[in-house]
Amino acid sequence: MNLTHPFLDRDGDKLREECGVFGVIGAKDAASMAALGLHALQHRGQEACGMTSFDGKDFFARRGLGHVAQVFGNAESIAELPGHMASGHVRYSTTGGSGLRNVQPLFADLASGGFSIAHNGNISNAMSLKRELVRRGAIFQSTSDTEVIIHLVATSRYPTLLDRFVDALRMVEGAYSLICMTDEGMIACRDPLGIRPLVMGRIGDAIVFASESVALDVIGAELVRSIEPGELVQVDHKGTISSHRPFGNHNQRPCIFEHVYFSRPDSTLDGKSVYMVRKQIGAELAKESPADADLVIPVPDSGVPAAIGYAQESGVPFELGIIRSHYVGRTFIQPSDGARNADVKRKHNANRPLVEGKRIVLIDDSIVRGTTSLKIVQMMRDAGAAEVHMRIASPPTSNSCFYGVDTPERSKLLAAKMDVKAMAEFIHADSLSFVSIDGLYRAVGEAGRSAKCPQFCDACFTGDYPTRLTDLSERDTPDLLTLPVNKVA
Ligand code: AMP
Repeated sequence: MNLTHPFLDRDGDKLREECGVFGVIGAKDAASMAALGLHALQHRGQEACGMTSFDGKDFFARRGLGHVAQVFGNAESIAELPGHMASGHVRYSTTGGSGLRNVQPLFADLASGGFSIAHNGNISNAMSLKRELVRRGAIFQSTSDTEVIIHLVATSRYPTLLDRFVDALRMVEGAYSLICMTDEGMIACRDPLGIRPLVMGRIGDAIVFASESVALDVIGAELVRSIEPGELVQVDHKGTISSHRPFGNHNQRPCIFEHVYFSRPDSTLDGKSVYMVRKQIGAELAKESPADADLVIPVPDSGVPAAIGYAQESGVPFELGIIRSHYVGRTFIQPSDGARNADVKRKHNANRPLVEGKRIVLIDDSIVRGTTSLKIVQMMRDAGAAEVHMRIASPPTSNSCFYGVDTPERSKLLAAKMDVKAMAEFIHADSLSFVSIDGLYRAVGEAGRSAKCPQFCDACFTGDYPTRLTDLSERDTPDLLTLPVNKVA
């Protein structure tokens, strides 16, 4: 992720921060396993990827802009990464020539030996930590918040690397699922609230860590369990596993948006099937917001499981009224509004013979800027739909995420600007409804959102951020972190 200033325009080139991490130790062909694992995590970040390996003596690294298949899709690239331990990262990157220096895993030679780190999440006090580190003489190589952790580890006075690592993390606020490699082995760790996911698996004698269980499936590894919030798991080169809980007890707050959109539907998150949760959100939506309609139509692919749940609950038939081209990336990765609009048209096409003359319920997982909904509703009307009722399988997204999901700044979120009635008019829908926050919690298997102890991070829907947002209060100080490296004092 990038060190981001929350008040910068999130469409600027500094603000892309969705990632996936993967690590394997004890495997003969660690790098090729990691390449496959990263490929299964491609949906978490499509602009750059990297890998570090260790052969018992030396560390090796390869990083590149582009998809995993482009950067690690041939034998030569894997041959550059020998050894039985490898870790990797997929991400949205900054655009432009400086992008590569932020591509992870980041690597440093510390006094204790090599240290590689791959991070999913976002550190919400990174700028204030960096400012202090720079003041004390640290020289940063990247604009990534993750590099802050490296400097904190390097300057900690504790005797062992594990203690220095924990000491560093105690200073960090926000979201982090980390996979680190040292001369001694691999460390995987999840922040005390468990905001971003991380799982552990096993294949033969090898131990695997990944953002999502789907990355274990692809290499034939079995899912052992989720890394617990606040847990740090260390695996040495003999395969000895030790678990540490250095941060005490916290109420865990995993990101609920992973269930709504971000994770792949064939993953399980903290023991729950993402697909089943999404179907259940659709069922809750049908109970809360029925519609008099002939067909339930998903916005593919993100709305499909919820639409199945909506159709099954309501008894209205499910049909594919929109066909998706699989040869375009996700809408968000394009840099400007103009490009995003063009993308919607390239990506989706109406199934006109089905839709013509019908009253339809359109299901999508979320409305962010409203770009997709506006285009899709119009597409259905152009195809002859008699009525278009939009149903959204999440509550209105009215707050930005500071924990590693790419959302625009608040002023660009449709739900931050308008109430639901005005949003319906804006997207030209005959009706519009969102699932309630309690309905969403019920779908994930919880009783509802208790004001005292919400069980998830749902800040994008409620504005209830589970950590301090220290960097927000720094908005008036000069921003060292977004200056080009050669201009940082
Ligand atoms: P928008 O067109 O801006 O309203 O965005 C809504 C669409 O983008 C929905 O179809 C979602 O599936 C998708 N979406 C929601 N959140 C994200 C995200 N963080 N990154 C990429 N796509 C997203």
